[in-house]
Amino acid sequence: MTEGALRRIGIMGGTFDPIHYGHLVAAEAARAAFDLEPVLFVPNRLPPHKKDYPVSDAKHRYLMTVLATITNPHFEVSRVELDREGYSYTIDTLRLLRAKFGPTVDLYFISGADAILDLLSWKDVDDLLGLCYFIAATRPGYKLSVELGHLQRKHASRVFTVEVPALAISSTDIRRRVREGKPIKYLLPESVENYIYKHGLYYSKAPAEDK
Ligand code: NAP
Repeated sequence: MTEGALRRIGIMGGTFDPIHYGHLVAAEAARAAFDLEPVLFVPNRLPPHKKDYPVSDAKHRYLMTVLATITNPHFEVSRVELDREGYSYTIDTLRLLRAKFGPTVDLYFISGADAILDLLSWKDVDDLLGLCYFIAATRPGYKLSVELGHLQRKHASRVFTVEVPALAISSTDIRRRVREGKPIKYLLPESVENYIYKHGLYYSKAPAEDK
């Protein structure tokens, strides 16, 4: 923890299309391991790295995130990226949250190891690394890739990993299962499953799906 910091807040960034138990277990594992209170789920509006890849309406992804997190008293959902026009650059979000929470709070940005691997290509990465710590959620037995190892060595005190047992679940696989009429039960909260069926999400293949 940074000297003088009194509190640690987790920022769980993702597209959440849809949110599933992999995300929830990752957030809970990071919360427990790093003593985060609360963990703020931040669904993005327009993911900058998916410019040619259509994602579901932000309204649906936000509501599914609310439904999935409602039973955990340590989880909250933020609209900070949804209410901001344009691409959802993480640096803009962290600058806003840093200003909101002030210097006595440490911010921990949690995301999948694959997403964090690309970190060096993100906008204003050096400023980003100064604003928050990063927690990369990995699967059991995940072989620390050369790139993640390099990132960790270069920014040893800023980038951490947390092992998550349920991370084999993926949003891409869930969307494919819905499209193919296969069950998605037990991969995500029942409330989210019901929401997907009620609103007919993922039945048709998006043009750039499964790129
Ligand atoms: P992604 O590229 O779709 O995800 C990469 C991998 O990480 C997938 O296996 C994904 O699984 C997993 N993952 C994603 N979010 C996760 C989470 N919160 N916890 C555990 N696993 C997670 O990643 P994304 O969701 O679009 O982006 C992740 C975050 O990075 C978002 O907040 C995004 O805005 C930010 N980002 C920022 C920039 C930038 O500022 N330039 C660039 C890229 C990403 P699922 O498919 O099952 O989710």
